Amino acid sequence: MGKQFTTGWGLIGASTIAAEHMIGAIRAQAGHEVVGVMSSDLKRGLDYAAAHGIGRSHVTLAALLADPDVDAVYISTTNELHREQVLAAAAAGKHVLCEKPLALTVAEAHEMVAACRKAGVVMATNHHLRNAASHRRIRELVQSGAIGRPLFARVFHAVHLPPHLQGWRIDRPAAGGGVILDITVHDADTLRFILGCEPVEAVAMSQSTSLARADLEDGVMAVLRFENGVLAQLHDAFTVRYAGTGIEIHGEEGSIIGRGVMTQRPVGEVVLRTAAGETPVPLEHQNLYVRGVAAFAAALRGEGAPAASAEDGVRSLAVACAVVDACRTQAAVKINDPFA
Ligand code: NDP
Repeated sequence: MGKQFTTGWGLIGASTIAAEHMIGAIRAQAGHEVVGVMSSDLKRGLDYAAAHGIGRSHVTLAALLADPDVDAVYISTTNELHREQVLAAAAAGKHVLCEKPLALTVAEAHEMVAACRKAGVVMATNHHLRNAASHRRIRELVQSGAIGRPLFARVFHAVHLPPHLQGWRIDRPAAGGGVILDITVHDADTLRFILGCEPVEAVAMSQSTSLARADLEDGVMAVLRFENGVLAQLHDAFTVRYAGTGIEIHGEEGSIIGRGVMTQRPVGEVVLRTAAGETPVPLEHQNLYVRGVAAFAAALRGEGAPAASAEDGVRSLAVACAVVDACRTQAAVKINDPFA
């Protein structure tokens, strides 16, 4: 019997995000199927494959990449592993959808993008928030001049890390733990998307209180300066349960207020405030991950670009790394163009 699918996916990492969101998002695409999973632990891989109806499980990356049915890989291991796995996938001619942060340093991420370009494979970053109806509408409003010249942004992304995720994020610096590489990198990507320009400078302070070990931060407040002059204030945490999430863009002629929108779920509200009063912005909510994989699938067919490109992953990582440096040095850190 021939293949029942047009695009076979290999999961690199038997992860929570794949189980909760991405396997379903891949299967929501016509002709796409998850054909294999790689876990470093034989039993976990077998259990994971059985639980999710995945035909093959592998304990080595080489075995997964040698599978001719694997056309594309989704990488959702801990962050220190992304680099070597992307390089290997590119060398094997597989398309790559990689989780954020792409790597632990900008230089590593740059190397990954260059390898995929050289191999001629599509590479994208799974910055899901770009796919939210809320952020897409906010971007359209800002870009169409609905609030005049944008001056300030505020991001409210202080949440409580659920117990089942209280592992490497709070106790393994070598795995790229800490709230900045986990959450601030998403804020950076979302602001870059909405404002359509790049941050050039960061100041920040972090704290380590009840969850993370002392050398990893579990809360941060940062300010970014964008090249168009916008100042953006970010508040990210693993440690607070009741803050609520949101994003605000304030311009000379109006403000856009998004509430409950810094999330994995297709929810939240957006309002526009101008001299005309307060207007609710209609949103057609859609699963963020399904939309992201659909854009990636289209890019594989040569139709359009991924929602967040590989280059977006590098640029958003550069911002997060600058925030980490700003916390460490207590000085303003310039964010240089990683592709200059
Ligand atoms: P998990 O901790 O669930 O999985 C990461 C790795 O940990 C897996 O690859 C697995 O290794 C190992 N692992 C999983 N479960 C266990 C266990 N019970 N015991 C021991 N080891 C285990 O990570 P997440 O799914 O939360 O995150 C994975 C990646 O995805 C990260 O890069 C993260 O930043 C990103 N992410 C992105 C999100 C987004 O919305 N874009 C949301 C959440 C995460 P092995 O594969 O070897 O079995």
